[in-house]
Amino acid sequence: MAVVGAGLAGSLLALALARRGGSVVIVAPEGQAATALSYGALPGRRPAGHWREWQRHHGVLGWRPSRLVCHGWPQPLAAGPPWLQALPTALMPFSRVDPVLLAQALPRCLAALAVRRVSATVTALEPLAAGGWRLNTDHAPVVAERVVLAAGASCRDLWPELPLQWRFSWAGVLALADWQGSATSAWLDQGRRGRIVLPRRLRRPAFEASSAHLRAPEWIVDPGLAPWGSGGLLGQITLAGPGLDPARPPDPMEMEERLRQGLGTLDPQLAEQPGQYRQVAVPFCLDGRPITASLAPDLWAFSGFSGAFATVPPLAEQLAAVLLNS
Ligand SMILES: Cc1cc2nc3c(=O)[nH]c(=O)nc-3n(C[C@H](O)[C@H](O)[C@H](O)COP(=O)(O)OP(=O)(O)OC[C@H]3O[C@@H](n4cnc5c(N)ncnc54)[C@H](O)[C@@H]3O)c2cc1C
Repeated sequence: MAVVGAGLAGSLLALALARRGGSVVIVAPEGQAATALSYGALPGRRPAGHWREWQRHHGVLGWRPSRLVCHGWPQPLAAGPPWLQALPTALMPFSRVDPVLLAQALPRCLAALAVRRVSATVTALEPLAAGGWRLNTDHAPVVAERVVLAAGASCRDLWPELPLQWRFSWAGVLALADWQGSATSAWLDQGRRGRIVLPRRLRRPAFEASSAHLRAPEWIVDPGLAPWGSGGLLGQITLAGPGLDPARPPDPMEMEERLRQGLGTLDPQLAEQPGQYRQVAVPFCLDGRPITASLAPDLWAFSGFSGAFATVPPLAEQLAAVLLNS
């Protein structure tokens, strides 16, 4: 079985397949995936239970209890300091997966289950007359009886007939390698303490869901922050709409300026942070339901998740069971 993509979707599916005795090869280039720049936020008890179970099987994957701190409350709470605005969600079950720790753990977990990794970019999928698929890559081709596309925002490039509800947006953040150089801000302090800060009404999900009606790409900013390894990720700018290409990122200088302006609406100090602007293409589905379906004989898709860190672990288990039993 070949899994195309080594982000959250491809990696967890490969682990679930290998844990059930499947022979798996992951084909993906080294480098950027949306997973690496994610906040990894997990509201609720059930997703936390899934990650605990995955960590029981595989060791540390970067999951840990956390706290959600929201801003954007009605007055007079909105004018209060972050510690006061943190109170309404203080008892809410909430945890997070640190993408830096996850990226460090995955190669070890995959190797422990004998999952092979081919570092290559798939350029085309060719059905074979005798059954199975040939994956043409920028290196040697890979032949597999079954293929699962988990190539994030590039899925449609590899399979243009992907259902129309599958889309992608560009997401940008300021990445702080550590908290040392960051100025003293009460919001940054929440991140330093391992908490995730988000707007009470996150704009991105509704914006993406309605993006099919846009005539030209538009952007929004959700000011917030999350711990990220020994540093943090600040804000999220989302660019969605027609004509985007996963191979042609939007102008980073323009995007960074918009992001910093948006961060400044929460706290001018956030807009001034020395972090490096980074952007990735992120898959989603207009109706919020991911594509975990067969596209052609022995070809499946596993992409377009909403709340990927909560939904991928159980769906990876389910799809692995289906693939190995059919
Ligand atoms: C700033 C930000 C914050 C987020 N916050 C959250 C959050 O709090 N909670 C949450 O649940 N989700 C969050 N998300 C969304 C989540 O990170 C993504 O939905 C999820 O990581 C997508 O995983 P994926 O494996 O589908 O795609 P990706 O992580 O993008 O992985 C795609 C993989 O496919 C590979 N690939 C691409 N093209 C090819 C090709 N041609 N051949 C071979 N391999 C290929 C890539 O190299 C990569 O390995 C956030 C995202 C961002 C950017």
